[in-house]
Amino acid sequence: TGRLKLDVLRKTFGSGDSAVHAVDGISLDINPGEFVTLLGPSGCGKTTTLRMVAGFEDATSGRVELDGVNLVDQPPNKRPMAMVFQSYALFPHLSVRDNIAYGLKLKKLPAEEIKEQVDLALTSMNLNALADRAPNQLSGGQQQRVALARAMVMRPKVLLFDEPLSNLDAKLRVRMRQEIRRLQHRLGITSLYVTHDQAEAMSLSDRIVVMNAGKIEQAASPDEIYRRPASEFVADFIGRANFLSAEVLHKAGDSATVKVLEREFTIPAHPDVEVGRPALVLVRPESVRLEKVAANGSTNNVVGDHGQVLAAVFYGENVEYEVETEHGTIVVIESDPDPAQIHEEGSEVRVDFNSERSWLL
Ligand code: ADP
Ligand code: MG
Repeated sequence: TGRLKLDVLRKTFGSGDSAVHAVDGISLDINPGEFVTLLGPSGCGKTTTLRMVAGFEDATSGRVELDGVNLVDQPPNKRPMAMVFQSYALFPHLSVRDNIAYGLKLKKLPAEEIKEQVDLALTSMNLNALADRAPNQLSGGQQQRVALARAMVMRPKVLLFDEPLSNLDAKLRVRMRQEIRRLQHRLGITSLYVTHDQAEAMSLSDRIVVMNAGKIEQAASPDEIYRRPASEFVADFIGRANFLSAEVLHKAGDSATVKVLEREFTIPAHPDVEVGRPALVLVRPESVRLEKVAANGSTNNVVGDHGQVLAAVFYGENVEYEVETEHGTIVVIESDPDPAQIHEEGSEVRVDFNSERSWLL
């Protein structure tokens, strides 16, 4: 159990000229135990969607179903769901132990069972040593672990997260991501997670739902979203993107032959691509290779023979270039660079890209 279904869900705030279509007809089927992330820029409707699922907000139209039951008449506290917030929302006057026990006490479970459940949650979230502290005696990461423990102790069918890691520093954020992922895997609870952070979405999710202006742009696995984005918006929002203008000459199955400037090559293509229409070749920065101009390798798949390095920034594990080409400025990332081989700013290079790793949309 824990199959969550959103059916043409809408939320409009206000009316007439001042109406805001915060959520504009979203449909989504989430499988039991699946971890799905709503990802998109600020204001695209993520929180409003989550609040309608939780029942904090009434839908203007559409339905939320859990295991085939319409939740419309169920108030938030009757829904078998638990929510984790960015602000932790712990009770300041209660100890860690009592914060975690709070919901179970409301449910009027026997004291012994409550203690058992809370001890289990304390242990699994590594909070035993902190059980008697007040929230203000904890770090941000510790507070968020208490909030997680408090949510999971309720044994919800669905866990909802609204940007739960946004208040933590970068290193802790990465560690907490892994903790959330491990916990969710172990418990197998259906999870709907909201974030505007693409790295967080990529590392946590079975499926990412990219939202833009109240609508779903694409719902797919992280790999699919990154490699085969459905739109320019998705390609640009997830990771770094270079776009080359192309003319579609021929299409066969999953690939197309395109002309980019004066060259032709065949690359994987989105199903909506049509012959005769302008299209864009997406080339990720790590799929571009730079060669010193003197080198005399294959000219296969070369787009823009010629480039000039505008900037080269060494980050240790990789080096990032900006290269001026006939297609405009292109970003190139080489991993594990040999410091002696880094192309200097101002140097002439040949720009090669991996057509198999490119994508036409
Ligand atoms: P996100 O979480 O993706 O940043 P929200 O769901 O919070 O986006 O907001 C979506 C849109 O709805 C925004 O334009 C926001 O200003 C608007 N909105 C959200 N809540 C309200 C509200 N209570 N009243 C009016 N407008 C709202
Ligand atoms: Mg939000």
